[in-house]
Amino acid sequence: MHEMGIILHIAKMLDETAQEQNIKKIGSVTLEVGEVSGIMTDLFVDCWNYFKVRHPVLAESELRLVTIPAVTFCGNCGRTYETVRYGKECPYCGSGETWLVDGNQCVIKEIEAECEECEEFEESEEFEECEDE
Ligand SMILES: [Zn+2]
Repeated sequence: MHEMGIILHIAKMLDETAQEQNIKKIGSVTLEVGEVSGIMTDLFVDCWNYFKVRHPVLAESELRLVTIPAVTFCGNCGRTYETVRYGKECPYCGSGETWLVDGNQCVIKEIEAECEECEEFEESEEFEECEDE
């Protein structure tokens, strides 16, 4: 399963980032998913919910998906057009000499770290107590 592999990769990466930066909780993760990346976003959310349970740092996180429209460039007339609507054939000149320039990605756009403890416990002593929990 394609989606599972990607989520697994992201979850692992977030775990590492959280450890490095001493983040206890991740609030939200924004993912940019290209329109023609072949990723089923419903499945993505299911996988996320599955991994949330297994990665404490993600337990209360929210997965936000942003769809990036697919854009194709025509090598013949130099124009760009909507991939999903027109496919591989340029709607302007009918050329098939086209290639995808955007919409095939799956990238982490933003990670929002939650650090409630930092706000609640301003004094370092108390913060340490909190960390020991
Ligand atoms: Zn064209």
